[in-house]
Amino acid sequence: MQGTNDIRQNKSDLRSMTRGQLEALLAELGQPKFRAKQIEEWVWTKGVTSFDQMTNLPKTLRSELSERLTLGGVEEIARQVSRDGSRKYLLRYPDGVAVECVGMPTKNRLAVCVSSQAGCAMGCAFCATGAAGLTRSLTAAEIYEQAMHVRDDFNTRVTSIVMMGQGEPMMNYDAVLDALRKFNSPEGMGIGARHITVSTCGVIPMIKRFSNEPEQFTLAVSLHSAVQKTRNALMPGVKKYSLIHLYDVMGEYVDKTGRRPTYEYALIQGVNDTDEELAALCDFCRGTLAHVNIIQLNNVEGSKFRPSSAARAQEFVSRLASVGVEATIRNSRGSDIDAACGQLRQRALRSKEA
Ligand code: SAH
Ligand code: SF4
Repeated sequence: MQGTNDIRQNKSDLRSMTRGQLEALLAELGQPKFRAKQIEEWVWTKGVTSFDQMTNLPKTLRSELSERLTLGGVEEIARQVSRDGSRKYLLRYPDGVAVECVGMPTKNRLAVCVSSQAGCAMGCAFCATGAAGLTRSLTAAEIYEQAMHVRDDFNTRVTSIVMMGQGEPMMNYDAVLDALRKFNSPEGMGIGARHITVSTCGVIPMIKRFSNEPEQFTLAVSLHSAVQKTRNALMPGVKKYSLIHLYDVMGEYVDKTGRRPTYEYALIQGVNDTDEELAALCDFCRGTLAHVNIIQLNNVEGSKFRPSSAARAQEFVSRLASVGVEATIRNSRGSDIDAACGQLRQRALRSKEA
């Protein structure tokens, strides 16, 4: 309930402030500049959730800050734990908006999948998030906080980030980039840029912008069909960006960055797994620097789409390999826990309604 009060009092959140804004506030409080760095370390590296925990700050400053600012306040409202060790969380921000994130541990590694928006406006036909529409975009701090929550829950360092939860990152570009930089920064999580992946449904102007960012962040593009008509039907939100245009922009991306993009392709029986679709996919990728991820479609309740067989997925991989395109089948982690984006949220809302 504290969050609700804070919103009523119009306090800003410390994590949404720039270094400059924080320094200005500290100056107002008669504090030296170096306090800003100390505070940022508490927030971003140590992940504290109250000003009282900032033990190297004078007590008076701690209470002055807590009178003026909020500090996070994400609340876990549901979780599911998979047999493979993955944990999926539904997290709620102080204004009541909830998003999903997932922690996927392997040996010494912890990959975290985060959401960039609550809901999504792109309306992909096979996606649970798309069906519900967009609630709002998240701030950089809200995106970052998801990974902090997972880190604290597993009590281990996060080694990679994938932005494949709810939302379309390229429709929330500035906040997403800020969050990526925080993940990457030594004052944040210190995760190498190549281990930070952004997945987009193919918002072309933003892919262009992304090509010009100095960091080596990894790019994944949800392709799902290389036949225009099929793709229009599956992904109506990116209808205006044609496949030909996408092909050209991805060529420019590779030329500029020298990095290999991933194409995601969830196989849907009788829709994008036909021979004609496979041939089009081979043509789209042949001769380019690309990696194709063949994904098993997660069942979305109420959806008419069904996943293709494992044998068909294998045929896709072999055919792509025969034209020189590297492809893998992504093993669907957490498939026993409503892993498709949007599903945990749907279930939690349903049980609330019931
Ligand atoms: N909006 C971005 C990132 C979030 S979705 C994007 O679309 O790329 C992350 C990935 O999950 C995308 O590749 C998306 O196409 C895929 N996805 C969505 N619904 C799915 C489902 N039911 N089964 C398998 N993959 C799905
Ligand atoms: Fe949005 Fe991605 Fe889902 Fe499409 S697949 S509706 S872009 S979250």
